[in-house]
Amino acid sequence: MKKYLIIGGVAGGATTAARLRRLDESAEIIMFERGEHISYANCGLPYYVGGVIKERENLLLQTPESFKARLNVDVRVKNEVIKINKEDKTVEVLDLNTNETYIESYDKLVVSPGAEPVRPPIPGINEDIIFTVRNVKDTDKIKNYCNKHQPKKAVVVGAGFIGLEMAENLHHLGMMVTIVEMAEQVMAPLDYEMAAVVHQHLKSKDVEFFLKDGVSEFKRENNLINVRLQSGRNIQADIIILSIGVRPETKLIREAGIELAPNGGIKVNEYLQTSDEHIFALGDAMAFPHPITGKYTNTYLAGPANKQARLLANNLVLGNKQTYKGAIATAIAKVFDLTVASTGMAEKILKKENIDYISNIIHGGEHAGYYPGALPNTIKLIFSPTDGKLFGAQIIGYNGVDKRIDMIATVIQKGGTIYDLQEIEHAYAPPYSSAKDPVNQAGFSAGNIIEGLVKIILWDELYNSHAANNFILDVRTPDEFELGAIEGAVNIELDAIRERIDEIPKNKKIIIYCGVGLRGYFAARILMQKGYTDVYNLSGGYKIYEYATGKQSNEDIFESSYIAQDGYIYRGTMKKEEKSAEEDTTIAVKAIEIDACGLQCPGPIIKLKQEMDKLEPGQRLKQTVTDAGFVKDAEAWCKMTGNKLISIDSNKGIYTAIIEKQASGSTPQKATDSNIQLPKNKTLVVFSDDMDRALASMVIANGAATTGHKVTLFFTFWGLNIIKKSNKPKVEKDFMGKMFGKMMAGSASDLKLSKMNMMGLGSKMMKKRMLSKKVDSLEDLIQTAMDNGIEMIACQMSMDVMGVTAEELLDGVKIGGVATYLAEAEESNLNLFI
Ligand code: FAD
Repeated sequence: MKKYLIIGGVAGGATTAARLRRLDESAEIIMFERGEHISYANCGLPYYVGGVIKERENLLLQTPESFKARLNVDVRVKNEVIKINKEDKTVEVLDLNTNETYIESYDKLVVSPGAEPVRPPIPGINEDIIFTVRNVKDTDKIKNYCNKHQPKKAVVVGAGFIGLEMAENLHHLGMMVTIVEMAEQVMAPLDYEMAAVVHQHLKSKDVEFFLKDGVSEFKRENNLINVRLQSGRNIQADIIILSIGVRPETKLIREAGIELAPNGGIKVNEYLQTSDEHIFALGDAMAFPHPITGKYTNTYLAGPANKQARLLANNLVLGNKQTYKGAIATAIAKVFDLTVASTGMAEKILKKENIDYISNIIHGGEHAGYYPGALPNTIKLIFSPTDGKLFGAQIIGYNGVDKRIDMIATVIQKGGTIYDLQEIEHAYAPPYSSAKDPVNQAGFSAGNIIEGLVKIILWDELYNSHAANNFILDVRTPDEFELGAIEGAVNIELDAIRERIDEIPKNKKIIIYCGVGLRGYFAARILMQKGYTDVYNLSGGYKIYEYATGKQSNEDIFESSYIAQDGYIYRGTMKKEEKSAEEDTTIAVKAIEIDACGLQCPGPIIKLKQEMDKLEPGQRLKQTVTDAGFVKDAEAWCKMTGNKLISIDSNKGIYTAIIEKQASGSTPQKATDSNIQLPKNKTLVVFSDDMDRALASMVIANGAATTGHKVTLFFTFWGLNIIKKSNKPKVEKDFMGKMFGKMMAGSASDLKLSKMNMMGLGSKMMKKRMLSKKVDSLEDLIQTAMDNGIEMIACQMSMDVMGVTAEELLDGVKIGGVATYLAEAEESNLNLFI
C-alpha cells in the first residue's frame, strides 16, 4: 500500500488527492492544509466581497468531512508542514489546533503550497484596514469589516487581474475606488495599447486611477488611512486592498535542499518531479520551461494547477507516462463591462527576449453586423514573421472574448500558426459570429502581412516617427475626419483615392489609416498596385492610436470629496466649524426622496428645481439619479441658487444627492458689493436648424431655467424651423415664401443632423439612440421649455424674409424685433449664439 502526503489542500493539492483515490483505492492519502478550508474557489473571492456571489458556502466546494466521506482522504486542516526531511522521507507537521508537532512518513510527497501576496516593507503596511485577498479567511475579514464599518473610500494598490476584480467589486458596493499602480498600465500581461482600452473604460466607470505612481507610506488617522504616493500625493481611504502581486511559497522546499529554478519557483521535470525523485510539485509554486521561450516560468492560474494535478496523480499511480508540456498563461477577467483576455507571449516580452515577431491588431464584430447589438472584439495577434507561428494574443470586448481567446490558445498550445487560425471552422449563426469569425479575420490579416500584400506600422512607431518624411493619409470620410484625426493627416476618403491619386506624393513614406484598419488596407492595396512602394497601413487604425496616445490615468476625480464622521461622502473641503451643522441630521426636518433614475440631462436638474420649490427652508431633499453628470450639475446648481449640497453618494452607478433648502433658498449668491445688482438672466440666439444644435439650445435653456432666472430664446432665420407647428394651418404665401417653405424643414421633427446626417439616416439613428438612452426628444424639450416659462421669441425680420407667418409657429411663441432681443440681453449674464 502506497502512502502519499500532500501539502496544500486547494487547487493543486485537493485535485491530486481526488484523482489519486480514483486510481488507487488502497492508498493511504493524507492532505495537510494550514488554513481552515480546503478546495475553495479562490477565483470567486472578489465576487463574494462584492456581494455578486451571495452565499459563503458556495465558495466552499468541499469540506474535510465531505472529502473523507467521498474519497477517504485524511484531511488535516490547521496542520502546517514545517519541514521536509527528504533523506528519511518524512515531514514535520505543526498542528495549529494544539501547537504540537509530529512526524509523518511518505512514499511520495506532493507539494502544492501556492503563492502568497507580496507585502513590501512600506511604512504602515500592517495597519488592520489594509487587506490582501488570498483565501476565505482574508475574504471573511474584508467582508466583516465592510459590513461593520460601511467603508466609503477604497484604495486598491496594484492593478493586476485580482486588483481590478477587487476594484470592480468594491465599486459595486458603492465605494469610491482609487487604483494606484506603479507601472504605466494596468494588467501586466497586456501590451500597453491594449491596456489603454481598459484605461478608457475605467474612466467611464468613475474609477480614479494613478499610473506610474507607487505607495510610499500608509499613515493611520483615526478610522482612515492616509495613503502617501511616491509623487507626494495623498489619498484618504477607509479600506485598502493590497494586490501588488504574488510570489511562490518555496521556503519549505528551499530549506529541504530541493533545487529551485532560476526564476525562484520549484524546478520540476516533465513529470512534475523535483530534484528529489520522491517529491513532486505543481500549481503556483512550481516553475516549468515556457513552451515559447523555454525559460522557467511560474503560472499563477487555476486551470493549469488543476490539469497538472490530474496528470501527476496518473503518473504517481501508473508510472511516469504522461508528460507536462507547460502553460501559456491563458487568462481572462471581467473589468466592469469589458472582458479582457490574453494568452501566450506579449509583444513587450518578446522584445525583451529578442525574439523576432510581428504584431497586428484587428477589430471584428462579436457577431454579424446586421444582427442587432454587434460590438467589436479587439484582437491583437503576435506571430513569427517567417512561418507565422503564433506567439500570443490579447482580446478585449464585451461578448465572445472567452471563446475567441480559447480558440487561439488551443492553436498556440499545439504549436500552430496564423494559417491555422484562418482555417478554424467555427459555429456560426448571426447572433453569435460571422461567416468569417474575427479569429479567422485576424489570421487573414496576419497572412496578408507575411505574404507582403501590405506593410503595417504600429501606433507607437507612427507616434515616434519623424513627421517630415511621412505623408499621413486618412481614408475615412470627411465627417469622421472632422471628429478627430492624426496631426498633419490629409483626408482623401477611400472611394476617392483613384480620382485624387495625384495628390499623394510618390517620394514620401505613405502612412494610411482609417477607423479600424480595414479601409486602410484597401487603400494600401490600391496605392501599391499603382506603383507606390513605401506604403504602410496603421495597425488597429485610428481607434487604437487614439486610445494609446490619449491620457491614460484618471486623477483627482474625488479630490473635492471627504468622508465625514457620519460615514457620508461630502463634496468640498471639510471645515471644522461647518462640520457639525452638515452632519446634524436633525436639521433635516423633512427629507423628500425623488427618483429621477433613467432621466438624462437636463431632466434630473429640472426635477430638482421643481421639488426644491416645494420645500421650506431647512428641509432636505434626497434625489436619486443614474446620470453621472448630475454630480457636477447638482454642485453648480446649489452654488447658483444658494442652496446647500449636503452630500453626493454613488452606489452601483446610482447617485444620491442630499440638498438642504436655505433661508435664501433659490436665491443666487450675493454680489460682493451689496449695492450692485448684477444681471442674472440668460439669452440664447438660435440661428441654426440643425437637429443637434437645436437640442443643445433646449438642453442649455432648460438647465438655465432651473436657476430661477429668466431665459429667453430668440429664433432667427433657419432657427425659426424649430418652433414651427407640425400641423400647420394653410396660409397664403408669395412665390418666394412658397419656395422657402418647400426647401426648409417643416417643424422640429424634420430637422437634420449637422454632421453625419447620411440622407436622414443619421437623424433617425440619433432619435433612436435618444429614445434608448431615455433622453427627451427635441419636441419634448421644447414643450418642457415652454412649461418652465422660457420665453421664445421669433425674429420678425427673419419671418418676413423667410416667408414664415405667425400662424405657423407654436402657440406661446412671441414675435419680436432686435430691440426685444437687446433688452433681454441687457439683463443677462449669458448670451449664446447657436
Ligand atoms: P492554492 O490554491 O493557493 O493552494 C495552496 C494551499 O497550500 C493554501 O491553501 C495554503 O494555505 C496551503 N499551504 C501552503 N503551505 C503550506 C504548508 N506548509 N502546510 C500546509 N498547507 C500549506 N486563477 C485563474 O485561473 N482564474 C481566476 O479567475 C483566478 N482568480 C483568482 C482570484 C484570487 C483572489 C486568487 C487569490 C487567485 C485567483 N486565481 C485565479 C489563481 C488560482 O487560484 C491559483 O492559481 C490556484 O489556486 C493555484 O493552486 P495551488 O494549489 O498552487 O495553490
